[in-house]
Amino acid sequence: MVDRESWLKAGAAGLLCASMPERYGGSGGSFAHEAVINREFSLAGFDTFGAPLHSGIVAPYILHYGTEEQKKRWLPKLATGELVGAIAMTEPGTGSDLQGVRTTAKKSGNGYVLNGSKTFITNGQHANLIVVVAKTDAKAGAKGTSLLVVETEDAAGFRRGRKLKKLGLDSADTSELFFEDVQLPATSLLGTEEGQGFYQLMKELPQERLLVAVHAVAMMERALELTVDYVKQRKAFGKTIIEFQNSQFELAECKTDTTIARVFVDHCIGQHVEGKLDTVTASMAKYRLTDTLGNVIDRCLQLFGGYGYMDEYPISRLYRDARVLRIYAGTNEIMKLLIARGL
Ligand SMILES: Cc1cc2nc3c(=O)[nH]c(=O)nc-3n(C[C@H](O)[C@H](O)[C@H](O)COP(=O)(O)OP(=O)(O)OC[C@H]3O[C@@H](n4cnc5c(N)ncnc54)[C@H](O)[C@@H]3O)c2cc1C
Repeated sequence: MVDRESWLKAGAAGLLCASMPERYGGSGGSFAHEAVINREFSLAGFDTFGAPLHSGIVAPYILHYGTEEQKKRWLPKLATGELVGAIAMTEPGTGSDLQGVRTTAKKSGNGYVLNGSKTFITNGQHANLIVVVAKTDAKAGAKGTSLLVVETEDAAGFRRGRKLKKLGLDSADTSELFFEDVQLPATSLLGTEEGQGFYQLMKELPQERLLVAVHAVAMMERALELTVDYVKQRKAFGKTIIEFQNSQFELAECKTDTTIARVFVDHCIGQHVEGKLDTVTASMAKYRLTDTLGNVIDRCLQLFGGYGYMDEYPISRLYRDARVLRIYAGTNEIMKLLIARGL
């Protein structure tokens, strides 16, 4: 598991909350800075670190919807790594259909009582600031959904489940979380108005999807680089593997797909920095580039022969780690639904 110390070191190195304003402890950058950091983590083989989610997903919820007091309380500590952020949407009974969330935050005196369980939560073992999607009015559908921010240190009744065993992203602390009669102060509600949760999610999810697309392109580029190096030195039938025309054609196609992916993701980053990226385009980037990633990595791995299947070769780990990009942040099927809705 990525150790807790890494978060503080990342904070000290300025790798957390790069796009948060300096007055809240951030580096005063834009989404482009988040994209570069996300990409460099991946190119360095650090695909399992939950910092892009912490800085590019959790912190923006607080910046965009929090009160001044909430921003001052939480953002500086997210920037140093004293607080590790998580976003808890998915539950055992519902993932794609966020309206089906069953976690409740019921009014109690001046605050709320939170009950429910979440699963597959990135940063689940280390997170001490968790944005939880809950129903403040179970009868009001999407309009009854709110975001509650839980500071776990003061939260009696909060429990972490296991770090889940997965196909890939081995060192990511993806976990179950349980909330049992957790008493929260009124100031835990993100913002000042109940029932805004669904709107807030819909506004922020395009950025989450773009971050996944950025990650996908970095993984493709790394896979390609590893493979080109390998086929230049491995020999069969008295030739290096790259001398076979099949290898050249495979790599030519992978390089072309990766370049097209990079151009599209850069276009999306530019649009997003200008405030123009819409849900449909972000969904296209997430779906298409993660699908392309699956195809590119599979073909790269094939060129390694049996070594590609061995854990000690980074291409093998990339292959396992890449699979989930088609699933999380909204599955690729859900992306296609969103694209189709815009037709
Ligand atoms: C490693 C990892 C990290 C994660 N991190 C987080 C996190 O930090 N926070 C968080 O909240 N969640 C997180 N998730 C959860 C992730 O976002 C969900 O797994 C994902 O949204 C899918 O939900 P589900 O697993 O419940 O699948 P389901 O919703 O049960 O879907 C099952 C299948 O049905 C398809 N499907 C569902 N609805 C439709 C439809 N209307 N039309 C067509 N097909 C459909 C899906 O595409 C999928 O193929 C993580 C998951 C993983 C694996």
